Amino acid sequence: MSGVRLSRISKRFGDVTVIDQVSLDIEAGEFVVFLGPSGCGKSTILRMIAGLETVDDGEIHIGERRVDHLKPGERGVAMVFQNYALYPHMTVRDNLAFGLKNVGTDKQVISKRIDEAAQSLEITALLDRRPGQLSGGQRQRVAIARAIVKEPALFLFDEPLSNLDAALRGRTRLELAQLHQRLGATMVFVTHDQVEAMTLADRIVVLNECKIEQIGSPMEIYRRPATQFVATFVGSPR
Ligand code: ADP
Ligand code: MG
Repeated sequence: MSGVRLSRISKRFGDVTVIDQVSLDIEAGEFVVFLGPSGCGKSTILRMIAGLETVDDGEIHIGERRVDHLKPGERGVAMVFQNYALYPHMTVRDNLAFGLKNVGTDKQVISKRIDEAAQSLEITALLDRRPGQLSGGQRQRVAIARAIVKEPALFLFDEPLSNLDAALRGRTRLELAQLHQRLGATMVFVTHDQVEAMTLADRIVVLNECKIEQIGSPMEIYRRPATQFVATFVGSPR
C-alpha cells in the first residue's frame, strides 16, 4: 500500500481547463473521497492517477515512485468504474483473472486470489456465469473483486455505487468501508453524493470548477464549511 502525491496537476481539453493546479497528499492507508458536482473533474483526476488520461502539467507520485509518465499497467493501481466495465464474453472467473495474466502471476496464485476475493464479496456461486446473467449489484461486486485480486497499492473508485438502488447502495457502502479496514489499503473514491462522502471518508476533498474548495474530515467539512459553495453542497446547518 502506498500514499499518493498530486503536485500541481492540470488538465485541459482543447481550450478548456478541467483541472487547475490541484495538489494533494494522500497518506498510505487513507480513504480519501473527492466530492463535487457533475462535471467538476472528478473522473478526470482519477483517470490521470490511473494513467488513462495524460497530465498536462504537474507530477503524480504513488509511494516513492513518480508515475505520471508510466503506462496504466505499470502504476500498481486498480480502478472500479461506475458502469463496471466487465468483459461481456468472459465468465466472471475469467474477468477476474484477466488483469493478472499479463503480470505473469502463476496459475495457482491466480486461482487462490480469485477464490478469496469471490468469497469475501459473496460471488463464489457466480464465477461461471457471464456478466449478462448478473444483476447490477452482482456486476458491481464482480468489478470490486476484480480490483481486489490485483492486490494494488492503490484502489480508485469512480462513483461505483451510483447505478445501484438505494438499499443495495447502502449495503455496498458498508462493505466497502469494511474492505478498507480489512485490507488497510489506500483508497481514492469520487462521488457527487454527500452521504457517501460523509460515511466513507477519512478526508473529503471538495472539488468545484477545476479546483479544490476545501479539504477536511467529514466533521470539519460539515461543521466548518470554508466557502458558501461547500456549505450549500454538503447541506451544512446555517
Ligand atoms: P465529473 O467526473 O466530475 O463529472 P469529468 O472529469 O468527467 O467530471 O469531466 C470534467 C469536464 O471535462 C467536463 O466538462 C467534461 O465535459 C470534460 N471532459 C471530460 N473528458 C473529456 C474529453 N475526453 N474530452 C473533452 N472534454 C472532456
Ligand atoms: Mg465522473
